[in-house]
Amino acid sequence: MGHMFEHTETDIVIRWRRMLGYSTLWLPGTDHAGIATQLMVDRQLASEGIKRQDLGREKFVERVWQWREHYGGVILKQMKRLGDSVDWSREYFTMEERLNVAVREVFVRLYEEGLIYRGKYIVNWCPRCMTAISDLEVKHEETAGKIYEIRYPVVGSKAGSQEFIIVATTRPETMLGDTAVAVNARDERYKHLHGKKALLPLLEREIPIILDDLANPEFGTGAVKVTPAHDPNDFQAGLRHNLPQIDVMDETAHMNSNAGPYSGLDRFAAREKVLADLEQHGLLAAIKEHTLALGRCDRCKTVVEPRLSTQWFVAVNKQPKNGGVSLAQGATGPVLKGDIRFTPENYKQIYLNWMQNIYDWCISRQLWWGHRIPAWHCADCKEITVAREGPAQCPKCKSKNLQQDTDVLDTWFSSALLPFTAFGWPCQDDKTKRELAAFYFGWRA
Ligand SMILES: [Zn+2]
Ligand SMILES: [Zn+2]
Repeated sequence: MGHMFEHTETDIVIRWRRMLGYSTLWLPGTDHAGIATQLMVDRQLASEGIKRQDLGREKFVERVWQWREHYGGVILKQMKRLGDSVDWSREYFTMEERLNVAVREVFVRLYEEGLIYRGKYIVNWCPRCMTAISDLEVKHEETAGKIYEIRYPVVGSKAGSQEFIIVATTRPETMLGDTAVAVNARDERYKHLHGKKALLPLLEREIPIILDDLANPEFGTGAVKVTPAHDPNDFQAGLRHNLPQIDVMDETAHMNSNAGPYSGLDRFAAREKVLADLEQHGLLAAIKEHTLALGRCDRCKTVVEPRLSTQWFVAVNKQPKNGGVSLAQGATGPVLKGDIRFTPENYKQIYLNWMQNIYDWCISRQLWWGHRIPAWHCADCKEITVAREGPAQCPKCKSKNLQQDTDVLDTWFSSALLPFTAFGWPCQDDKTKRELAAFYFGWRA
């Protein structure tokens, strides 16, 4: 019904403009819907009692192609039944070889301009799909939960009068990764604690009491725990104060060895045990009802875990090495100049606000179905080589012991290139040049 509705409207606009005498073109095609498709095939395999890992990457990708041949054409058949006025001679699919060439070309160009980098960052992690997912793939729902207030002993309190600093959290199991407690510099209640340390309960680790705006004197107790490896705001605070990042969970959201006695427990089982142990030590100050916006994976409904992991990113606010404007400025410039107009006009401000507050795009996914990242890791010297074609040897140490990065790109990395690749870009033949010039005002090859 969604396709019927949307395609009928698009069809009307295309035919109307064509009859008015404009050059019109409606391109038909489909993307490879990385995470959704992998999940469907995972389920199909599960019904046969097979795991993806048993098959191995190559065999699994073969199965996805089979699945795709069977079901992938459904949308296109619907379009034909509707009589959509598309140009079928230009049908595309984002996993075609020619698109793979374009994806590599763009990846290498952005990398060479310093706009693609690899780094440790907090991402939305689905412990079931075992991949990073985008903000759009996290669905937040208001959930009745609890907020727990926990007493952290202040180190060096006078004998017989142990002082505590109280922090509040909805995810007590993450406290095992705390590396500081933050208070606000202008909060009078905590002036005497500046420069002091707290003792992290259960793990008995001494952590500094830091001054940071992360702590809001008007909210809760005014003191907050800082867990750089498990919360995006704490991650930023950790960078400001040079705090260690202690990751206490593995990729399936089970506690790892950094969680000490809680190691091996699932995150929710760990939460219960942490709370029970705090209670037993008299360190659980209060439990309050609390409505929270719980983030779940759009595909499999598992609760998303903010997780520190090594990923590939596109730098959207950085100036390219060869000069010119950042990607975000490139996207806002034509709107500010009036070359692109929004209808209705109030969306212009929404768009500009969004683009002006945008942060780097995590483009890697820990999936098997998708465009594999064109980067090769040297097993001997750890050098990373980004290239259009797989290198024969490591350019640094000449080793032949190279392995291609196992991650694939976010589906949008290839989908976003379609306006250009649909006409054959990066191929530079006359047909491609002519068509790009015809359909893109001001296009320069
Ligand atoms: Zn998931
Ligand atoms: Zn090497």
